Amino acid sequence: MKIPVNTASHQYEVVIGKNILKSAIESLYERLPKIDKTIVLTDQNVWEAGKDYFSANFPYPFEVFVMPPGEECKSFDNYKEAHSFLIENGCTRKSLIMAFGGGAVGDLTGFVAATYMRGVPFVQIPTTILAHDSAVGGKTAINHPQGKNLIGAFYQPKAVIYDMEFLSTLSEREIRSGMAEVIKHAMISNEKWLKEIMLIDSIANIETDKLASYLKAGIEVKAKIVAEDETEQSVRKYLNFGHTYGHAIEAAAGYGGIAHGEAVVMGIVYALLLSERYGNVSRKFTKSFLQFAYNNGYPFEAVSSYTFDSLEPFLVKDKKVEYGELQFVLLNAIGEPFMQSISLSVCREIDSEYRA
Ligand code: NAD
Ligand code: ZN
Repeated sequence: MKIPVNTASHQYEVVIGKNILKSAIESLYERLPKIDKTIVLTDQNVWEAGKDYFSANFPYPFEVFVMPPGEECKSFDNYKEAHSFLIENGCTRKSLIMAFGGGAVGDLTGFVAATYMRGVPFVQIPTTILAHDSAVGGKTAINHPQGKNLIGAFYQPKAVIYDMEFLSTLSEREIRSGMAEVIKHAMISNEKWLKEIMLIDSIANIETDKLASYLKAGIEVKAKIVAEDETEQSVRKYLNFGHTYGHAIEAAAGYGGIAHGEAVVMGIVYALLLSERYGNVSRKFTKSFLQFAYNNGYPFEAVSSYTFDSLEPFLVKDKKVEYGELQFVLLNAIGEPFMQSISLSVCREIDSEYRA
């Protein structure tokens, strides 16, 4: 299955399915100008879990650079190490870099590719559920000690090759975290789809066919938005639904304590409470979503230990602060997002409602 992504300046495809790595890579190499060298950037966990399948199905020779796992690979130090690896291995502008991993590997690799020799082509080979979101759309970044994703670039991949074989080694927690972005895509686009998701008993055990159709639907939502607004001047902001408060939780927990998607689900509940006030979302709906999220093991108790005072410094540091007010994505109804400026005092009020 192929989903086109057409931005003003770039066109590429997301190929998604089971056991598609070999055929998708072959057809990509036929399409692209001759590649002189392939370099794979991955992380320890991904390589450990996926190297056998990857090596057996990758039809061309490659060099591999294995990085520290997850968020750790988005450090300045690792960014430098990755560049050193490219230089030492003779990577040129005719080489192709593969981002083989979750959102962290994808973000780091994309930024390395954007900056090495002022830009070399790269391909996303996502291995997490969350990465159905992060691999599409060309946002790349590393972290600064003072904030997440502060250093980055918009840089589109040549293709996204999403072989669902890789998802089989994800932990329940990673599935739960990744499903948060699926929920987000449904919340901002389609009530019927969201209601279907909310009927799932155990999100961590979602059946493969259903997951495939949800990932495809999520990628379609993202591709449509990115096509309209590649650099987040307008509608792309809607993809931050749940992320303003979510990012603050993630930061307060010291990144990793609460997984990205777990924090996003907390942020979605918070945004729904705001949407009751500024939009037409009902309390009944917020409660039913809260129950669904609680039943599925999203960590409300762990998060309750982060007080509003501990979140505030991170809320005001968010990239989405404009003229001193926080910019929230809210919903008029499910599938109808809009932007709303909100003062810190209202945020504090809603936070106490959230905890009640
Ligand atoms: P991740 O890349 O940190 O992966 C989560 C963990 O799972 C890591 O420990 C990783 O090593 C491991 N892992 C990955 N794939 C695996 C597999 N198939 N089997 C076993 N283990 C595996 O996390 P993520 O949730 O995929 O992505 C989060 C990152 O994505 C954050 O850095 C976030 O900022 C970024 N992000 C970027 C965008 C974007 O548009 N660029 C959007 C959303 C999130
Ligand atoms: Zn996210």
